[in-house]
Amino acid sequence: MKAATVPGLIVRSQSGFFTVQTDQGEAVCHLRGRLKRAAVGDKNLAVVGDRVRVSLHSGNSGWIEEIEPRRCALLRTAPTPQGEIRQTLLANPDQLALVFACSQPAPRMRMLDRFLIICEKQGISPLIVANKIDLVDQEHARQLFDRYAALGYDVLYTSAVRGDHVDQLRQRLAGKISGLTGPSGAGKTSLLNLVRPGLGLEVGGISHATRRGKHTTVVRQLFPLPEGGYVADLPGLRSLALWDIQPHELDGYFPEMRGLVAACQFNNCTHRGEPGCAVRAAVDGNKIHPARYESYLRLRAGETDD
Ligand code: GDP
Ligand code: ZN
Repeated sequence: MKAATVPGLIVRSQSGFFTVQTDQGEAVCHLRGRLKRAAVGDKNLAVVGDRVRVSLHSGNSGWIEEIEPRRCALLRTAPTPQGEIRQTLLANPDQLALVFACSQPAPRMRMLDRFLIICEKQGISPLIVANKIDLVDQEHARQLFDRYAALGYDVLYTSAVRGDHVDQLRQRLAGKISGLTGPSGAGKTSLLNLVRPGLGLEVGGISHATRRGKHTTVVRQLFPLPEGGYVADLPGLRSLALWDIQPHELDGYFPEMRGLVAACQFNNCTHRGEPGCAVRAAVDGNKIHPARYESYLRLRAGETDD
């Protein structure tokens, strides 16, 4: 007879141990061998954010019996002695909060553009967090980030030092499963500590709570929020690449371009200078921000650096 199973959410994973949140509390679970055999050698078989069904035994432990198909996921490439591998960092996020500092470090807008494309491709809502507004005048901050608000993206201007808009950030995160990423030093840890007091993540730490020392066991974790929902701190998304995106579909992930493409004279237009290009006309008419167009051109040319 098959054991009764209950639904759950993987909130932590470490060396083959998965902490699963269920209606009956947390349980530490292992994957059933048959699941592993069915997906030989796939280290991404179950990750934080996966919806699963577990059979529970006493003592808050159990087995993961089933993994539900993923709606979306955030991945990165990681170099290994066997070559580059893909790692799934977080399954099924509702939202990806992209934290950039207005200054110190200066924001790399091309990195932001890459993150936004990944969100567009995966169907994940981006939340742009322009932090450290205490370090710049408002005009400077707006000059950098208002172009994204104009495209319909949600932009929050925050200061972890002064507490500006931290409440709004908390509201945006409430009840959702969010990834949190951005360049090191942007203030992710500081903001997370304000949103969730008591978390006590180390500000200015090299790699936050996910790594200890040299012989690291990587712990991935969803931190529960007081208002409901979870946040996963995702340092190292820097190497996030644009997989599975064909050059010709790139314009579809730029909201300011995708509506124009049909108006280009050639239906295989690359928007790099063909006659009758509607995208180019919009750039020349200041309807598309030149920096966004430049991002498009560079990505189209296969450049992956910022
Ligand atoms: P992380 O690497 O993105 O997690 O960034 P941290 O939270 O560790 O912050 C990096 C540095 O920036 C620390 O010295 C913080 O005190 C500082 N910092 C974070 N947020 C702000 C902010 O809003 N304004 C200012 N002036 N400094 C900040
Ligand atoms: Zn065109």
